Amino acid sequence: MSTLATDRRVSIIERIMERVLVVDRGFQMDGMPSPCHIWTGPTSGEGKGGGYGRMSLNAQTVAVHLVVYTHYFGYIPGKKQVDHLCNNRLCCNPVHLELVSHIKNQRRRASRAKEKA
Ligand SMILES: [Zn+2]
Repeated sequence: MSTLATDRRVSIIERIMERVLVVDRGFQMDGMPSPCHIWTGPTSGEGKGGGYGRMSLNAQTVAVHLVVYTHYFGYIPGKKQVDHLCNNRLCCNPVHLELVSHIKNQRRRASRAKEKA
């Protein structure tokens, strides 16, 4: 990879981290507290598909957690979705993000809805 491309990728993550608050929301990984990186910039609004962080990148509006995922873990296959293990849509802590199939994501969403009820 060229130095130029690396610099560009670092600057995107730096831009994101400038707008992130590191907050302990009680989420744990391997029994240890793992704070969320809460996006404080624009979001996708309320309702269905809402509540996700949005940012402008190369004149396009993109989901912040997907930018973070791609930066740390690479390409997201078309049939996969990036789920939040911490169930916090504004979180962009890379270790809280997991690649799942669409069906698995829907099942998780349904079971979480039951837990809340
Ligand atoms: Zn999180």
